[in-house]
Amino acid sequence: MSVSKLAEFGVKHVARGIGRLSNHVLESGAGSYVTTTEGRKMLDFTSGIGVTNLGHCHPAVTKAAQEQVGTLVHGQVNIAFQKPYLELVESLLPMMPHKSLDTFFFWNSGSEAVEAAVKLARHATKKQNIIVMQGSYHGRTFGTMAMTRSKTIYGENYAPLMPGVFSVPFPYCKQCSISHSTDGKFGFENCCMDPVLQLELLLKRETAPSDTAAIFVEPVLGEGGYVPPPAGYLAALRKICDKHNILLVCDEVQCGFGRTGKMFAVEHWDVRPDVLIMAKGIANGFPLSGIVSRKELMDKQNPGSMGGTYAGNAVSCAAGVAVAKAFKEEKILDNVNARGAELKDALQAAWKDSKTGKLIYDVRGLGLMLALECTPGKGYASKIQAKCMEKDMLVLTTSIYDTLRFIPPLNITKEDMAAGIKIITDAINEVAA
Ligand code: PMP
Repeated sequence: MSVSKLAEFGVKHVARGIGRLSNHVLESGAGSYVTTTEGRKMLDFTSGIGVTNLGHCHPAVTKAAQEQVGTLVHGQVNIAFQKPYLELVESLLPMMPHKSLDTFFFWNSGSEAVEAAVKLARHATKKQNIIVMQGSYHGRTFGTMAMTRSKTIYGENYAPLMPGVFSVPFPYCKQCSISHSTDGKFGFENCCMDPVLQLELLLKRETAPSDTAAIFVEPVLGEGGYVPPPAGYLAALRKICDKHNILLVCDEVQCGFGRTGKMFAVEHWDVRPDVLIMAKGIANGFPLSGIVSRKELMDKQNPGSMGGTYAGNAVSCAAGVAVAKAFKEEKILDNVNARGAELKDALQAAWKDSKTGKLIYDVRGLGLMLALECTPGKGYASKIQAKCMEKDMLVLTTSIYDTLRFIPPLNITKEDMAAGIKIITDAINEVAA
């Protein structure tokens, strides 16, 4: 098929429900750049939604996967152990945010891993209900759709969804303040009130602790707007969980694997999850996800009740081992913090600037998980996004708020970051003009 016909073919034959930022057809990727079939080289500040964290086609990851393809592609976890699977466990064990997290189960996608965590929580506690945060995203399967509270589009017209899911506000009071009220007249500066109190009330009014298996939380809200919680919030959740024998499940699918400048986001607040959910960056683009918990909990599940044909694929696991090695050898976290500071400084400078500042409502985030929330109601984020695209840069929006998110590869070079900052600031300036 001729290159010029590819996008048209895709629009005709690929499911509309997917939805796309663009109709570019990607052909190759290297480091922080992707190249389209039309030969357009674009700076990728999306990392395929926080997945290719070590850049596209990281040489060591590619080599490990290529070697594994020639050795063993598929073993099947319900038949036997697979060498790369066990090597991945060995690589991840010392990276866990708490030593109690010592028993793993690997899946393919983030959603499947979230569902595996729901199964674990129900089975281990013999309780059914779960609590999620408003604004959270956990996936698009039937179980996870019920848990996803970032945008109604994910669940609209797909009901009935999994029952037994309750929600409480995630603390980002700025989102609730006056400028976001529908008519701009209300002055509820603190309308989400105390989110910990809300949780306590929920456990009294709607789902009793004796019926509640787990609280699921993204330590940094992802699709809900790149919102880090205030200090003390996750510790308060931990306390409530301990008090009521409820499991604390941290979904680090988006914020984990170095994205926030620590290996896992919970480390910023020194909180111990009962279950940690991983995906995206774990294998730099190969389909792989997983949960980790303590053996005592995981061993409660009946043998055979977990598993799946492709779960913990050997090639993906081999890629994951190479990712873990690269994190150490290439001092990835140092780069995240250095490049993250450069980008955040630039965004904050645009916020302070008398001309561009009027477009900006908030700059937030940790490491290279950064957001620029625009002044509501004007569609600025999509305008800036479109300008970036014109300048050969891919960026994403997030949440119901007019927010751009920046998630470049964690090993982005200083030069590529400088190029990215220039495009973003030029785009903001042009929209402000
Ligand atoms: N949890 C979180 C926090 C996510 O950000 C995502 C994906 N954006 C998922 C779960 C679902 O992962 P997947 O798309 O791989 O199913």
